[in-house]
Amino acid sequence: MSSTLDRSAVQSEKNVWQMAQAQLDDVAKLIGLDASVHAYLRVPKRVLTVSVPCEMDDRTLRVFEGYRVQHNMSRGPAKGGIRFHPDVSLDEVKALAMWMTWKCSLVNIPFGGAKGGVICDPKSMSMRELENMTRRYTTEISIIIGPEKDIPAPDVYTTPQIMAWIMDTYSMQKGYSIPGVVTGKPIAIGGSLGRDKATARGCLVVANEAMAEIGRNINGATASIQGFGNAGMHSAELFAEAGYKIVAVSDSRGGVGNPKGLDVGKLIAFKQETGSVSGFSGGDTMSNKEILECECDVLVPAALEKVITAENAPRIRAKIIAEAANGPTLPEADDILFDRGIMVLPDILANAGGVTVSYFEWVQDLQEDFWDEDKVNERLKRKMTKAFSETLEQSKKLKVHMRRAAYVVAVSRVAEATKLRGVYP
Ligand code: NAD
Repeated sequence: MSSTLDRSAVQSEKNVWQMAQAQLDDVAKLIGLDASVHAYLRVPKRVLTVSVPCEMDDRTLRVFEGYRVQHNMSRGPAKGGIRFHPDVSLDEVKALAMWMTWKCSLVNIPFGGAKGGVICDPKSMSMRELENMTRRYTTEISIIIGPEKDIPAPDVYTTPQIMAWIMDTYSMQKGYSIPGVVTGKPIAIGGSLGRDKATARGCLVVANEAMAEIGRNINGATASIQGFGNAGMHSAELFAEAGYKIVAVSDSRGGVGNPKGLDVGKLIAFKQETGSVSGFSGGDTMSNKEILECECDVLVPAALEKVITAENAPRIRAKIIAEAANGPTLPEADDILFDRGIMVLPDILANAGGVTVSYFEWVQDLQEDFWDEDKVNERLKRKMTKAFSETLEQSKKLKVHMRRAAYVVAVSRVAEATKLRGVYP
């Protein structure tokens, strides 16, 4: 299939922000999006850069750079995670914020998109340093966040404990407890049951729908997973519970595979003990390249961006790619995979379970009424199934791949809200 997307900038620069804008440009052409709405949606609404001074354990002062970007709030308050990683950049945060707008729209929850990040290496910081940095970053961005404005959540290398510090810092400044300022919190302070596994559970729901669509049986099917954090580890656990054999997994230190299936329980215990899946004795060492290219029914990229490219796309042997990570596939790879008949469940669909249960958490916090886990999981399944079927319907109708179809659904809804509200003043 030939593409309508001008990829020259994307290919030369490999910049995620240009990639995100190019994806929007692509769908704008496809749906004949009003030029003024297109221009409005092509840029973030608000970008905040903050300096985060932090006293380190040796009493020296370090100044970290952080960001909070709000891409769009036409459909409700902004929503999106916070990433702590050495490679965080403003362009990355802008891209992630834009993807959050589309994701919230696709699963039809009343949020816009935002994202935050701090350039730091949390693995080399003590708990005290991490807490200081988190509290100061929260203070710096507190001028634009709040339960009715912008609600952060976890992302790469940010945890429920970090969400607890954010909630506490914001609450201390206001003088009373405000659990709804952040989601992904521990249960004891207003978190939701089921939030920890929500991204993975949502990913499983849409992967199962896709398996049914291509006529494959789940029992004995195989899955390969790149990344073994919140999204990846819980995916391994839930896919295995559902009947898949997990044939390969990896994290930042390396990978392990076993065509007969890895023992996921033992693997999780090993990761908790050693800090990595690398070196697990229940399988053979595998490189990242092998993890992505191994024979399997479902490949779950659950680490970082831009791992599936025009270079490796021709060698990928999965039947379905379920993007638990944000932005793992470059646009030029999308077309290659589509031509090869591989169904890609795009990030804004496949990992939308996290933000969906974050929405449920926010609703529970605001209502001060907490649901049991079955209710959370059941409602999550309903949202994910609906988003999958709406995407599939557009994909068939327009004869486009699932990412384009998901963008058609998501961007159309945001465009409608933007038009209805008009431009102030
Ligand atoms: P995490 O910090 O819990 O885990 C990240 C994992 O990726 C770790 O296991 C790390 O070792 C691994 N990793 C890092 N570099 C790697 C590399 N080069 N090769 C292989 N593995 C590598 O983060 P997470 O929350 O699981 O997020 C992972 C992805 O999922 C991100 O793209 C994030 O934006 C996306 N996501 C997460 C959520 C959520 O609820 N946590 C929701 C939606 C999307």
